[in-house]
Amino acid sequence: MEKTIFEKVLDKEIPSYKIYEDDNVYAFLDVFPIAKGHTLIIPKKHCRNIFDCDEETAANLGKSLPKIANAVKKAFNADGINIFQNNEEYAGQSVFHLHFHVVPRYKDTSANFDNLEVKWPPQKLSEKDFLEIQENITKNL
Ligand code: AMP
Repeated sequence: MEKTIFEKVLDKEIPSYKIYEDDNVYAFLDVFPIAKGHTLIIPKKHCRNIFDCDEETAANLGKSLPKIANAVKKAFNADGINIFQNNEEYAGQSVFHLHFHVVPRYKDTSANFDNLEVKWPPQKLSEKDFLEIQENITKNL
C-alpha cells in the first residue's frame, strides 16, 4: 500500500516543521493552518484512524497532548485551544494516518488568522431516545 503523506513525513521523505518528537509520537506544523500555531500530532506507528488504533498508541498520543497544547497556547498567548480528530472521509479526514489537530483560538482573529468556524447546533431528544442511544452504544463497547 502507498504511504500516506504523514508516513512520508515520519520517514523524512518530505520536510516538516518539527515541534516535538519522542519514541512514539511526532508533532509538526500543519502546512495549511487554520490559525497561527495549528499543530498536528501523529503516532509513529501507523494507524489509519481511531478505529484501528491500539490502546498503547492512543495512550502515547494522549500523553503528548497537554504538552503540545500548552506550548502552542503559550507561544502566541492563545485565548483557547480546540483539539480535533477526524475519522474517515465523511468526517473530514483527508490524510489516512491518525492525527490530532491542536488549534489555538484567538479573540483577535485577524492578527492570528483564526479562520475556524465551529457550528454546534444542539438538538432536543426525548428520554426514550436517550435510553435507546445509551443502550445501542454500551452494547457495542
Ligand atoms: P484531516 O483533514 O483531518 O485529515 O487533516 C489533514 C491535515 O494535514 C490538513 O489540515 C492539512 O492541511 C495537513 N497537511 C497535509 N499535508 C501536510 C504536510 N505535508 N505537512 C503538514 N500538514 C499537512
